[in-house]
Amino acid sequence: MERSKYDCLIVGSGLYGAVSAWKARREGRSCLVIDRRPQLGGNLYCQKTEGIEVHSYGPHIFHTSNRKVWDFVNSLTPFNGFINSPLANYNGELYSLPFNMNTFRQMWGISTPEEAKAIIEEQRKEISCEPSNLEEQAISLVGRNIYEKLIKEYTQKQWGRECKDLPAFIIKRLPVRFEYNNNYYDDTYQGVPVKGYNALIEALLEGVETVTGADFFANRSYWESLAERIIFTGRIDEYFDFCFGRLDYRTVTFETETLDIPDFQGNAVVNYTSKAQPFTRITEHKHFYLFGDEVKFNPKTVISREYPCEWSEGREPFYPVNDIRNTAVYGKYRELALSQNKVVFGGRLAEYRYYDMAPIIEKVLDLK
Ligand code: UDP
Repeated sequence: MERSKYDCLIVGSGLYGAVSAWKARREGRSCLVIDRRPQLGGNLYCQKTEGIEVHSYGPHIFHTSNRKVWDFVNSLTPFNGFINSPLANYNGELYSLPFNMNTFRQMWGISTPEEAKAIIEEQRKEISCEPSNLEEQAISLVGRNIYEKLIKEYTQKQWGRECKDLPAFIIKRLPVRFEYNNNYYDDTYQGVPVKGYNALIEALLEGVETVTGADFFANRSYWESLAERIIFTGRIDEYFDFCFGRLDYRTVTFETETLDIPDFQGNAVVNYTSKAQPFTRITEHKHFYLFGDEVKFNPKTVISREYPCEWSEGREPFYPVNDIRNTAVYGKYRELALSQNKVVFGGRLAEYRYYDMAPIIEKVLDLK
């Protein structure tokens, strides 16, 4: 039989695919990366506008406590020290995120951790048993006032489902702190690449053959014939021709605008937590890269409003929907995937789970 042209075909050039390609090259294995989009990088892709790196698929902030992962990404391209401190805007009232002493002071006018704990203790009494959904979990973490102004409507907008119908773990991602600390993440290291995320992807894919605008499914047998092994990072239900039914995804669309002012909101991200606005957040991209006086040196700014919606064919799937039905359907695909010894399924879409960036690198490179 004729030998395949490559040791490995990587379907998808997002972070999972790009790190896998870096690893293959490093280990002396030849690989080909294909992507159906016109550019590389998956959702990390940025488009430079007015000299500003615009995160075309939503704000990406790299954060990790794993020193090896941080050193690895910095060895590819330098990262800055950006710290994510988003704000929440509830009908014009501004609150600090994540939930911390600043938020509690803004909400209740109190100043000590003891006072904040006493209020939350009182409000969480309405949840008497172990929280079984997002609403109960949120009230039990921060009480009803914060749930109603900062969580309830935002979550319904983001997921298109009632908080009672969503799993509790989604909200557990957010820290709750009884300190004055607006850093959204608990991790030791945090930042974005100084030269933008495209520089990270370019460094990962340096010396690797890539084809963009290439749809694996449009010519499946041809692509499969090219390599001994496949790393597949697309939708797992599509890979198996939807044999157990379709998985649901949430998607987001972005309305991006250039403004003739140097600063729109004084912060990278502001969440709009009321249902009065249809978007969930506004990202002002220059704030990831320019700090202090640097902001005014560029007289323009680029902002993106983010609108979540249910995914339909032809759109980019962003988030898996981890409700009971989808979890059960994914379980069947997972079983089938385990029996495919030529193919590895990896990343947010192929593993049908929410992944931050750092754990993907940790996993692919096995950096403990
Ligand atoms: N969340 C919220 N209000 C906020 C920010 C987050 O209620 O202002 C909830 C919401 O349910 C969201 C979850 O917390 O899905 C996790 O937020 P995170 O910022 O981690 O989500 P990401 O934007 O990274 O997907």
